[in-house]
Amino acid sequence: MPMLMIKCKTCGEVFAGVYLPEESSSEAKQTLVQSSKSHTCSRGHENEYSESDFMDWS
Ligand SMILES: [Zn+2]
Repeated sequence: MPMLMIKCKTCGEVFAGVYLPEESSSEAKQTLVQSSKSHTCSRGHENEYSESDFMDWS
């Protein structure tokens, strides 16, 4: 299953990202990405993400 990872833009901590269903369209991917737009890392840095920040590590 493809997984998209994101990094804290301040300290570089990598977050476990979102899993994409095997057959997901780019439309479904965008919806997932848009629902995960902000993350706070374990050090308390709050980050905003756009689609291009998600790395495909599959
Ligand atoms: Zn951080």
